[in-house]
Amino acid sequence: MSEKKETIRCLILGSGPAGFTAAIYAARADLHPVIYQGLQPGGQLTITTEVENYPGYPDGVQGPQMMVDFQKQAERFGTDVRWGLATSVDLSSRPFKVVIDEKDEVFAETLIIATGASARWLGLESEKRLNGFGVSACATCDGFFYKGLDVAVVGGGDTACEEASYLSKLCKKVYLIHRRDELRASKAMQHRVMKASNIEIIWDSVPVEVLGEKTVDGVLLENVKTGEKSRLDIEGFFVAIGHTPNSSIFKGQIDMDANGYIITKPGTTETNIPGVFASGDVQDHVFRQAVTAAGTGCMAAIQAERFLADEE
Ligand code: NDP
Repeated sequence: MSEKKETIRCLILGSGPAGFTAAIYAARADLHPVIYQGLQPGGQLTITTEVENYPGYPDGVQGPQMMVDFQKQAERFGTDVRWGLATSVDLSSRPFKVVIDEKDEVFAETLIIATGASARWLGLESEKRLNGFGVSACATCDGFFYKGLDVAVVGGGDTACEEASYLSKLCKKVYLIHRRDELRASKAMQHRVMKASNIEIIWDSVPVEVLGEKTVDGVLLENVKTGEKSRLDIEGFFVAIGHTPNSSIFKGQIDMDANGYIITKPGTTETNIPGVFASGDVQDHVFRQAVTAAGTGCMAAIQAERFLADEE
């Protein structure tokens, strides 16, 4: 099975803000980091448009360009950036064995997991076609573009309520579309939504088509109880039906919560396995921002460096 064997001081899985920031720090600490970029090189930011909330870019930056900049900075200090997806791992002993693309085995003295999370989508063709043109999975990232306009949020959990209440401060009207007749969100979050005068909850409904040719101009809904269809005029369509952490290959080998988020010791990036650190969205379901991911990537590299230094 194995075509080549090598031992890497600091192996980083994932190439979003967490992975590349970890690489910048690890490379500058002479750990000769290797990054495997994963399925979506550059991570979730490569499917957003303008990023205006990352410090240091006063005029904003396109998400894909920002990730090119992250990569260049990591490479400038000697990071070895490789194509490839980690398909299985063995964390039972060090160096940790990681299999890439189901064939190449590499061994890691320290491992930084920065594999991120993926937004869940409804699976509509129109949702895919208009992604980035009115369809988004992140209100904090894209809400600003809908200032004074009407938008819809889909979902009934904490994320949907949080997104709806964030958008209610910017937008004229926010429709919260939920497939049942009660919200799953915590009472506090529900209360926040109910209090906002410009949020209207549309119960028992699912979107069947996002409307618009080049950009979103509406959504077609179906009432799941009556089968009745109706159209809402909106310009922004936010899907908030949950995220899936990209942690399946670590299942059963590392401590995770019930939703698959890797558990780190509070205030650190340490997992329950010495030498394995987790950063970014794979261990954070609350903040999920590029800047917080970058922050924990930095922490992971510093902790990996100290871990190796303590051993020597
Ligand atoms: P959740 O899984 O809690 O909620 C997802 C929501 O989307 C549910 O209401 C669900 O409906 C709905 N949904 C799922 N699939 C579909 C679909 N195909 N079509 C229509 N609706 C769908 O995810 P969240 O992202 O909201 O939260 C994830 C975790 O993160 C939770 O533990 C949450 O508490 C936590 N969180 C905490 C926050 C905080 O404390 N500030 C902020 C954000 C998240 P249904 O209810 O019918 O299943």
